[in-house]
Amino acid sequence: MSDATAVEIARSVNAGESSAAKRARAANDRIAERDGVIGAYLSVTSELARTHAARVDARIAAGERLPLAGVPLAIKDNMCVTGTRTTCASKILADWIAPYTATAVQRLLDAGAIPLGKTNLDEFAMGSSCENSALGKTANPWDLGRVPGGSSGGSVAAVAGGEATVSLGSDTGGSIREPAAFCGVVGFKPTYGRVSRYGLIAFASSLDQIGPIATTVADAALVYDVMAGHDPMDATSVDRPVELASPGLREDLRGVRIGIVREFALTELDPAVRAVYERAYADLEKLGAELVEVALPTAEYGIATYYLIAPAECSSNLARFDGMRYGLRVEGRDVGATYEATRAAGFGDEVKRRILIGTYALSSGYYDAYYVRAQKARTLIAGDFAKAFASCDAIACPAAATPAFAFAAKTDPVSMYLMDYYTIPMSLAGLPSLSVPCGYVTPAGGTSPMPLGLELSAPLFAERSLLGIAHAYERGTRHAEARSIPDLPRTAVAR
Ligand code: GLN
Repeated sequence: MSDATAVEIARSVNAGESSAAKRARAANDRIAERDGVIGAYLSVTSELARTHAARVDARIAAGERLPLAGVPLAIKDNMCVTGTRTTCASKILADWIAPYTATAVQRLLDAGAIPLGKTNLDEFAMGSSCENSALGKTANPWDLGRVPGGSSGGSVAAVAGGEATVSLGSDTGGSIREPAAFCGVVGFKPTYGRVSRYGLIAFASSLDQIGPIATTVADAALVYDVMAGHDPMDATSVDRPVELASPGLREDLRGVRIGIVREFALTELDPAVRAVYERAYADLEKLGAELVEVALPTAEYGIATYYLIAPAECSSNLARFDGMRYGLRVEGRDVGATYEATRAAGFGDEVKRRILIGTYALSSGYYDAYYVRAQKARTLIAGDFAKAFASCDAIACPAAATPAFAFAAKTDPVSMYLMDYYTIPMSLAGLPSLSVPCGYVTPAGGTSPMPLGLELSAPLFAERSLLGIAHAYERGTRHAEARSIPDLPRTAVAR
């Protein structure tokens, strides 16, 4: 498998210079060679990839041109694909086979993408390191002793490790952007409601959004353009025309105003990390942007607000996993005992913690004090962004405060929750937001330089402008091209 981009692969397959079958085979070989070391995939769907590739080649031979012809795609394992095991990295769904395909996935397959397999995640997408997966361990391809980030850790590691050209992740509070930053790839969360959630197993329905992970902004834009748009099967999908992002990719930032958030002071970061972000802001300016200071005074309430709203919605969404209709069932002496035994055995600690927090926050007597208050805080946070965007086109800030950390480095839940300090406010406001590689630091005790990500966020539905700005920054700085992942060991590691 070459490390060609999706744009290049689609061009060559459409031109008859390569074929989807060849691409599928090469991708499969790459997975066989590397995934024992990286552990990005929970299932590899070689047969599906092969039959799909044959279909794509037949369509091309018949004269069709497909935007994603032959592009190898990895899919986060909380998205349904007919006939595939779809687990959410949970014991409760470990053997569940999806009876239908998510709309976002279907649109990519219809456009010629090749489904390579389903990738690891934190159980039900709850986490920031992929360590909450009950079914596998994923390593960061840059340093195998470090986490890939989460929850879309497998999707990001697959792309960073060259085991997929593009992948799909889901982002509720940062699950595309934080791992993309940790693995040195582009991760993009569109506006809430812009991509259908039909077939995405729900975590927090008012926040969940599917988005692309890729090695370049142009590839992320290509995937986004194919999957964005209204879907009658998702009541929260927005019925409004899509402004295609690919035609808006630009080479400079002349006339663009970028907001730098007063409350996100870089002085709080480690000096080496801080230097990378100072340079990133200076580069934005060098490319022609005007930097303006903006205020997000309520952003500091983001984490507290999110950890009421997201668990509340999760406690309701996960009530369906009770051993009756889906997945694992552990028999008890009556129906109540069966529910209890199934859920006790099927869910991991973090999922149980969220269900407990959410159930508590929604219980009568506490509902107004917690849930309703959190909803009010959410409105204030969205209002702050709306005010900030009166004076800028996009906001720049770190995607995460640190590079990827070592396995088992975070032992208390709150330190893990804090990883999303810079991503959660945008999620609460529903904004389109992405992470693009912006440099490297070698962490204390680390063996190799680790990537960092610049987060860029834009007003609702300003995807085209956002990806255009990110493209200009990427082309003007070329951080991803400056380094590549170290050579991987040839033998599989024990997990
Ligand atoms: N890390 C956050 C959480 O655990 C966000 C996860 C996500 O975006 N799915 O909830």
